[in-house]
Amino acid sequence: MPLYEYYCEPCNGIYEAIRQMREASDPVPCPECSLDGARIMSTFSAFTMRDGYPRRIPDKGTFWHMGKEVKHRAKRMKNWTHPELAEPKSTPRPTKGDVRTARDKAVVQASDARYRDRWGIDEQGFRTVKAKKKKPQRKVVK
Ligand SMILES: [Zn+2]
Repeated sequence: MPLYEYYCEPCNGIYEAIRQMREASDPVPCPECSLDGARIMSTFSAFTMRDGYPRRIPDKGTFWHMGKEVKHRAKRMKNWTHPELAEPKSTPRPTKGDVRTARDKAVVQASDARYRDRWGIDEQGFRTVKAKKKKPQRKVVK
């Protein structure tokens, strides 16, 4: 049986009930005041809500964001993603040691490059184009 949402006006609350499809539009008693609440379409659950908006019954002090339960209201959001539901950042910040290693490596690489440039050799020790002597062009006798 599908899950439907109902709204209780005196409590200003939304609650869910599992009903049969043909009974879905019938009113369902509110779990708090037991008055009949009318069925709603899931438009209320679009964003995080609490103050001034319908709350969820039973109320556990949690918030709702895009139909998912969250502990806190979002202060900052990126692309409507709640921080509690967002994926953790995959690239951790490099440590001080990592930064120092990278810097030392760059220094060594730069000095190697200068050396190779001076002597006209590549990383494997072969002569680069720069170091190769140009063959004198043959004179063509006409
Ligand atoms: Zn109620």
